[in-house]
Amino acid sequence: MIKMLLRRTLGLALLAGFAAAAQAKVDEVSYLKNGAYVGKIGTYILNDALYLDATRSAKLIGGKIYWYPVSGKLMLQNRGNKIMFFMKSDEVTLNDTKVSLSNPLIVRGGRAFLAMDFFTSKHFARAFGFKLDYDPSAGVLAARQKINISSINYFSYKDKTRLVVYLEEPLDYQTSQKENNVFSITMPNGVVESEEKLNIADGVITSVDVFQENKMVRIIFTPGDNFGKVASFRLSGPDRLVFDVEKSVRPIAQSINGLPVSVPDDGVTVISPGVSGTDPAEAEVSSGAARYVSDTGVNIPDKFVLDKGGRKRIVIDAGHGGKDPGGHRAFGLKEKEINLLVAGELSDMLKDEDIFDVLMTRTSDVFIPLDQRSRIANDYKADIFISIHANASRDRREKGFEVYFMSENASDPWAAEVADYENSVLGLEEGQEASDASAMLLHSLARNEYLNEGSQLAGLISKELERSTPFVNRGVKQAAFYVLRGTYTPGVLVELGFMTNAKDQKDMNEKKGRAKIANAIYKGVMKYAQMKKWK
Ligand SMILES: [Zn+2]
Repeated sequence: MIKMLLRRTLGLALLAGFAAAAQAKVDEVSYLKNGAYVGKIGTYILNDALYLDATRSAKLIGGKIYWYPVSGKLMLQNRGNKIMFFMKSDEVTLNDTKVSLSNPLIVRGGRAFLAMDFFTSKHFARAFGFKLDYDPSAGVLAARQKINISSINYFSYKDKTRLVVYLEEPLDYQTSQKENNVFSITMPNGVVESEEKLNIADGVITSVDVFQENKMVRIIFTPGDNFGKVASFRLSGPDRLVFDVEKSVRPIAQSINGLPVSVPDDGVTVISPGVSGTDPAEAEVSSGAARYVSDTGVNIPDKFVLDKGGRKRIVIDAGHGGKDPGGHRAFGLKEKEINLLVAGELSDMLKDEDIFDVLMTRTSDVFIPLDQRSRIANDYKADIFISIHANASRDRREKGFEVYFMSENASDPWAAEVADYENSVLGLEEGQEASDASAMLLHSLARNEYLNEGSQLAGLISKELERSTPFVNRGVKQAAFYVLRGTYTPGVLVELGFMTNAKDQKDMNEKKGRAKIANAIYKGVMKYAQMKKWK
């Protein structure tokens, strides 16, 4: 949990050079919110790029600034989002993702300035929940309406394609369909972070374009050959609009030589007896496969067509291992040891249930990279993924357990810190390839559908831990854990107790204490199974 190393250290020698900027010009811009004047923000111009005084901006626009002059980094925090800027670097990290902005942070006269390009970027909008527009001729920076459509995702299933519009507040919508099948949705008062085009190309929908118009959002579907009937409905928790486009099978495929073609649930085409020879239509029907294989080669298992003989699969992940010992501890067992002992005990209990098959990501003291852990869960087609960890803090009084489920945004700064720590093992992994942007996108698409279930499972486990272990309940939290983000399954990460707290560590070091923990998690899983009517 404790991070000693600063990312980047700049010598004081660099600071001396800052005073000598050539075409520097100090001025101000006016900041307007909902059309009303709020105040002025000092600016700086460097190489024709406009910068805003960071501290003043945060004061007027929102957020908190943490400026580390010695290491030359600046953190802007808002709504649980952390944005890190580094001097002399185009790299900016927004929570756990790296984005690029041209020289976003400069220092002049001992004050930090951030590029206007950042304030008007979608990264700002994502962290703050509203957009800023800058009008250079008037020198006015204006906050636009709050973003109320947080994201738009799609899912290709064998019999339909689903478009999901995630809402931050209730919004009305209207749909219309033209004769050429072009289908459109208008959402009055809708505000999106940015206009986008989703290239789906799955035969049902070719693409979806999202346009921000004056006081409305328009979403236009470009139909594919198999574009069928559209059904729309609302779902809540999170609030979302769902548009299901049926996969229509073209008339020629519905009957071959007058005999019916049936497509059973397993996605295998069955042509009624008596038909011989192949028809191009046959191949077309067969494309309703059990998996959607994207052009990036990432398989998204379709839960609806997998047959596991009625048994559900659970993957239990003992955090850390091998060269990665885990967090700091006051005394006793290392985190990797506690995790493995609890995971093993939990696995044994769940294996005794005949509705479950259980797999552990590791059963010994070995190092396993994070992406491999999620790959194990995906390959095994897990129905539940549980990652076991123990917590640590600088403050020895911190105690208790936390149950996390995956989210892009951390629920609080501490949750973000825990996620940062658990993700930091990425630095230990050798030969890590740069993550393919489209593969990551597919990860995020699959993941969103499981967020709800992850939160339900987290709630049930948390309740049982509170009921039957000596640990204090620090609550169910959300954060962007790498190990959860890659799994196409409801996943939770349990931070058992604090190894830096004498009482917690004593309980985790005792067999009796660990048995109570494993038993509580087991009970939480069983409650979840009941809720899902698995049992
Ligand atoms: Zn850990």
